[in-house]
Amino acid sequence: MSFMPVDPDIAALTAELTETRRAIHRHPELGFREVHTAALVAQRLRSLGLAVREGVAQTGVVGLLQGSRSGKTVLLRADMDALPMQEASGAEYASEIPGVMHACGHDAHTSMLLGAARVLVARRDRLAGNVKFVFQPAEEGPGGARPMIEAGVMQDPSVDLALGLHLINDFPVGSVALRPGPVMASMDTLEITVKGKGGHGALPHQAVDAIVVAAHVVMALQTIASREINPTMPVVVSLGTIHGGFRHNVIAPEVSLTGTVRTFDESLRKTFPERIERIVRQVCRAFRAEAEVRYEFGYPVTVNDHAMTSFARDIASEVVGAEHVRMMEAMMGSEDMAYFFQAVPGCFLFLGSSNPAKNLTAPHHSPQFDFDEACLPLGVQLWVRLVERALERH
Ligand SMILES: [Zn+2]
Ligand SMILES: [Zn+2]
Repeated sequence: MSFMPVDPDIAALTAELTETRRAIHRHPELGFREVHTAALVAQRLRSLGLAVREGVAQTGVVGLLQGSRSGKTVLLRADMDALPMQEASGAEYASEIPGVMHACGHDAHTSMLLGAARVLVARRDRLAGNVKFVFQPAEEGPGGARPMIEAGVMQDPSVDLALGLHLINDFPVGSVALRPGPVMASMDTLEITVKGKGGHGALPHQAVDAIVVAAHVVMALQTIASREINPTMPVVVSLGTIHGGFRHNVIAPEVSLTGTVRTFDESLRKTFPERIERIVRQVCRAFRAEAEVRYEFGYPVTVNDHAMTSFARDIASEVVGAEHVRMMEAMMGSEDMAYFFQAVPGCFLFLGSSNPAKNLTAPHHSPQFDFDEACLPLGVQLWVRLVERALERH
């Protein structure tokens, strides 16, 4: 930590940040079931004297800090949910709940935002404006951001800009990564049913083989990315499951497929239902089968505002040094922080959290995932500096 100076009042929080993170890590909770985590968050925010709303979109919590003078309102967001997987990190603070694990760093996000709230309350005199601390459920799906927005989190007082912070084990502790414009992809889901006619494996002429038709559907869908879309625009159409059939000598009457569709362009995204439906239906028709296609829009593209990103980049340079701030590639993963940015300009930043020297390099969502806790006070420093500067700037 010595290479990264933080303010003394933030450095003094280091033990508390680690303890909070570990307490949450030991008791991970799945999306919309973050009952204990939410209670911990609400209790902490209340003890700081903040106005607290609980039960926002089921388990969401919002704390409001009003600065000493009036001004803009900044929304800071942390997600609280864990993943349905068994931890194998071997850490002494590993999950005590079988089959549930904080494998994405949301325990850190929650701890850092609580730390930022503590520091900003103590520095309230410096703030011209308000800070909304948003602790969101179910980021890993089905998504807590949208229902929180529908529950009025952007109003009263109305939010002017939004910021989000996510750990990233692709980069070492002590670094910050960001990118203006689209930074994370949209994520839509696809469900296809190919309906043929079952029969005896020896008598294909009396049947319509749903497996053969589905095989053509799978191949034809590959032509969306390779033949229909401008190759300079990144697109993913991945089929993740395929199920059908009963026995080696029985022709399957029906095959079901599911998949994910991702892109960085909202107008391109809107064209996917037509493209997929057309290809699936026409291929099925060619082979005398029928098709059902369900296309469901999920998280939008996460788009960082250009001005906010260059602002965040300046602050990050102050906190970790310009040489440790990197311009990152956009990622095909997705984030429901995107919904906040549809309402107001903002920036989603990534805080480096790996440390090869301590063997903390496992990727997010892996059973071995863990990170260097030295990132925690740095994250708080980043939050605090962003807010102080945003509320003096505007
Ligand atoms: Zn995740
Ligand atoms: Zn995450």
